Amino acid sequence: MSATAAARQILLSLHEVMASRSAPQDKLNRVVEIVARNLHSEVCSLYLLRDGMLELFATRGLNQEAVHVTRMAVGEGLIGTIAETGETLNLAEARAHVNFSYRPETGEEKFQSFAGVPIVHRERVIGVLSVQHVEPRRYEDIEIEVLQTTAMVIAGLIASAGLIDEEAAETGGAPRAPETLTGLVLVRGLASGRVVLHQPRVTIHQLVAEDTEAERQRVYRAFARMREQIEQMAAQVEFGGGGEHDEVLETYRMFAYDEGWSRRINEAIDSGLTAEAAIERVQQRTRMRMREIDDPLLADRMHDLEDLSNRLLRIVSGQLGTAASLGLTQDTILLARNLGPAELLEYDRRRLKGVLLEEGSLTAHVVIVARAMSIPVIGRLPGIRARVSEGDEVLLDANSGTVTLRPSPAMVEAFAVKNTAYRERQASYARLRDVEPFTRCGTRIEVMMNAGLRDDMSALSLTGADGIGLFRTEFQFLVSATLPQRERQTRLYRDILDAAGDKPVTFRTVDIGGDKAVPYLRSDAAREDENPAMGWRALRLALERDGLLRVQARALLDAAAGRTLNVMFPMVSEPWEFDAARAVFDEQLQLLRERRRRLPNAIRFGVMLEVPALAETLDLLLPRVSFVSIGTNDLTQFLFAADRANPKLAERYDWVSPAVLRFLARTVAAVRGHPVDLAVCGEMGGRRLEALALLGLGITRLSITPASVGPIKELIRKVHLGELQPQMRQWLADPPPSMRAALVAWAAERDIDTE
Ligand code: PEP
Ligand code: MG
Repeated sequence: MSATAAARQILLSLHEVMASRSAPQDKLNRVVEIVARNLHSEVCSLYLLRDGMLELFATRGLNQEAVHVTRMAVGEGLIGTIAETGETLNLAEARAHVNFSYRPETGEEKFQSFAGVPIVHRERVIGVLSVQHVEPRRYEDIEIEVLQTTAMVIAGLIASAGLIDEEAAETGGAPRAPETLTGLVLVRGLASGRVVLHQPRVTIHQLVAEDTEAERQRVYRAFARMREQIEQMAAQVEFGGGGEHDEVLETYRMFAYDEGWSRRINEAIDSGLTAEAAIERVQQRTRMRMREIDDPLLADRMHDLEDLSNRLLRIVSGQLGTAASLGLTQDTILLARNLGPAELLEYDRRRLKGVLLEEGSLTAHVVIVARAMSIPVIGRLPGIRARVSEGDEVLLDANSGTVTLRPSPAMVEAFAVKNTAYRERQASYARLRDVEPFTRCGTRIEVMMNAGLRDDMSALSLTGADGIGLFRTEFQFLVSATLPQRERQTRLYRDILDAAGDKPVTFRTVDIGGDKAVPYLRSDAAREDENPAMGWRALRLALERDGLLRVQARALLDAAAGRTLNVMFPMVSEPWEFDAARAVFDEQLQLLRERRRRLPNAIRFGVMLEVPALAETLDLLLPRVSFVSIGTNDLTQFLFAADRANPKLAERYDWVSPAVLRFLARTVAAVRGHPVDLAVCGEMGGRRLEALALLGLGITRLSITPASVGPIKELIRKVHLGELQPQMRQWLADPPPSMRAALVAWAAERDIDTE
């Protein structure tokens, strides 16, 4: 009988055993029989983890009296070594291994060779399956394969039959050691919870195939579908999508067409597995190899293969939803390679405590959304996926950028202390709520906050912000499955104005497109921008789909009846775009007038300055607007030609570099003398050092993330503009080698905290 046929025979027999109604112990006894018989092995034994020890549960060939008597610790003997490392052992001379330990009650002294594989459930070892022979011999690859496949098939049975500790079955076996990783802080804060994978692991219900040919066809179709998806993704970014993304796609492509991979899956199907089990089986093998790889570049590639394998598994099983669609059941730390803002918004805010991203960058919209939701985020954690399992406990310190996986009780305690100190500091900011942000020299700085959701409004009174300087109306579009109807928009805007009371609110018209894709507009956007950030987005989209802008204009005008309406247009590049957008509002206003509807008491129109070209024609635009708000997130990406969502460029350009500051200084000078309010509403203004630079440039209005209002107020109260501004002028004229270092030193001399 060929090796594949033997493997198939074992699987069929195992399938029969699994389907039978006998007690779990009987089933395990039969499992060791089947393996021993088919592999012509003198011994086959099965050890399971119970009460933290590996207990001999079933054997053929060793003394039966040893069953449920022989127990070893994780790490002890060969069995314990396999449980600890999760790796296979294949030894011609078992005794020669350093960890060999002899158990007389088993009667195993006469057996020389040994092979054992871990039984893995939910990525953790829950037991070990081993074979032994009298003759010294190394086991052939195919025999090891058979053992590993058997271990995979029986893992589910063991976990569901209550044969191992309840908790071990829940979280998957032996606890792994704590680990600490460091990443890039994207949204500050502290959080703890259990890991949930954004792309959940697929649950495999059937492992043994009933019709091998049908399974082969299923895999074949899934491969075709997956290749199609990758080609679509690649088509979107070709010609300048840029950077890391391209490389990842190239790797995806390479693997998607890799014959070795599909051949291995096919071989696993030949051995009698279902399509899902075959993909999983090959993935397990890859994972094991991944652990041995030291080369970070290669490990990255393996990681891409893992990603792709998961995609294939999802396609073949039809389990396509993210964890959001399954719902969160406990305090959660979400783990994803990357996320879109709409995907994040799908999660239950009460349960979602923190986010870990393998990639991520500071001004990506998903990060802005997380910041608005006060959800701490750490990014740039490549390889974390291989280090955690679903359900692991995590401490996330997004002040220092550290992630502690599976913390010890002492670590949890230390974290609680840190948390208390953090909360105290937050409380001290909260005490600044009613304190007006005057500089030391007596200039009142307006500190407003950015918002986008109804829930954000509670932060207005909690922080004591002066108003909403940027209300991102597109968030409502991002959270909706369909285009929000006018009534829904009106209701939201009215609620926002009601919640703001006397404080001003600036509504920005929809800024969708780019990385804020909405599914129901995709058919249009699918004109496939090669570079979405510079593509058909924001006002460009709104002016073309003017029905969209008309509805929004009407909703805003209705909502602001009897009050002041502040409207801001995003991504204006040339003055005519402002005129065109304003005309849409004027038309709606005229309509309301004709219908004798109640109108806003006043309407103030303004623009966001985020496309550098607009700065060149600001003199033409200024007489027509009431305010200008500088969106430094987009502005810097365009100024430096550096994609704000590309993690590789995340730390490359500095907001306090001479290029940015000189640009801003010229804008301040251009606006001076006009009755036009100038503000900064990008993320830059919410960071202390950057805010200090802005004050130095003469900016007196900031709109920032709510969590920054306290810290920035505290900073403002320590600054003397009479000292700072002349210094800034000098730095701009003759920039120091590092503007950042110069600012930090200047602040430190004055005891101003810039962290
Ligand atoms: C900006 O670009 O700076 C900005 C505030 O808008 P958004 O981040 O929503 O693009
Ligand atoms: Mg912007």
